[in-house]
Amino acid sequence: MCRLLKTSMSNDQDVIPDLLCRAVDCVLRGERGAARSLIAAIDQLALVASRKSALRRRRATLASAAFLAHRPRGIRADSNGWAAHGQPRTHVPRSAMLAIFERDHFICRYQHCRRRTIYVPVLRALSALFPELIPYQKNWRPFEDHMLYWTYGASVEHFVSFPHGGTSDPENLITACYQCNEIKNMLWADDLGWVVSDVCVTIGTD
Ligand SMILES: [Zn+2]
Repeated sequence: MCRLLKTSMSNDQDVIPDLLCRAVDCVLRGERGAARSLIAAIDQLALVASRKSALRRRRATLASAAFLAHRPRGIRADSNGWAAHGQPRTHVPRSAMLAIFERDHFICRYQHCRRRTIYVPVLRALSALFPELIPYQKNWRPFEDHMLYWTYGASVEHFVSFPHGGTSDPENLITACYQCNEIKNMLWADDLGWVVSDVCVTIGTD
């Protein structure tokens, strides 16, 4: 896992993915106490604040004059952007999701973010081992799940959303951290001023 997370273009200032990698290594070596100490160092409140800040920026964008000015006539904006008629939602098989994550080296493709994401089953395994430190419940509710899920969880993002005509073809799928996925939702990336970066290059092998 660590090899895939080290790239020349990721947000290398962010220490949490490295910390989680080390915690997984500790678990695999049978050093559960060391893993627990590493996980306990994660500042959940800082992650909550980050999510709240991102949601505030989204609300401000939806209310901005620039956004409202290009609203299509007769179509109302809701919390997910413009209500529209597009493609029916289709399931992305796990194998296809993994192919997208591997192509993108598990890094959020939005240029402003470049967060190193964590494969959700890895987070769930850590939750099973340390439920008091990384709470998880299957219905994904903020503040009941640890905010790691809502921030670092790897997701497959439909760059053009279903209501806007997007499909689940690989060329429309990118890796996004769960926070970026939640914020963009069914908006156009342009609405938020977001740019998709090129697929990054792996430089590490350890
Ligand atoms: Zn992101």
